[in-house]
Amino acid sequence: MSETIFSKIIRKEIPANIVYEDDLALAFRDINPQAPTHILVIPKKPIVNLDDADLEDHALLGHLLLTVKKVAKQLGLTNGYRVVINNGTDGGQTVYHLHLHILGDRPMGWPPG
Ligand code: AMP
Repeated sequence: MSETIFSKIIRKEIPANIVYEDDLALAFRDINPQAPTHILVIPKKPIVNLDDADLEDHALLGHLLLTVKKVAKQLGLTNGYRVVINNGTDGGQTVYHLHLHILGDRPMGWPPG
């Protein structure tokens, strides 16, 4: 896959407000927050999006979800939060490196736009 801005964040070549990191994943604050708390959880492995993930990634995908839970707890999102994965053009994906949005600290509407 081609290089994205998230690859540079993983390599610490550009700054990001990192809230969590381990061997497999990184979580940082979204630069254009859509909620008072808006975090992106990404795999360090350069997976383009959910469509690009395959069977060998199943443990990593589980790890990302558990990382969401860990980060939400760390940030005190005790009232709930929303998790979003935008996939492809119609999904509204703009950065082609898989990421899970955590949106919190406000009530969410449904359906999404
Ligand atoms: P998506 O539209 O689902 O692909 O989401 C991409 C997200 O990445 C958007 O919410 C952007 O605001 C966010 N974003 C883009 N560049 C950066 C950056 N350098 N640091 C933090 N978040 C970013």
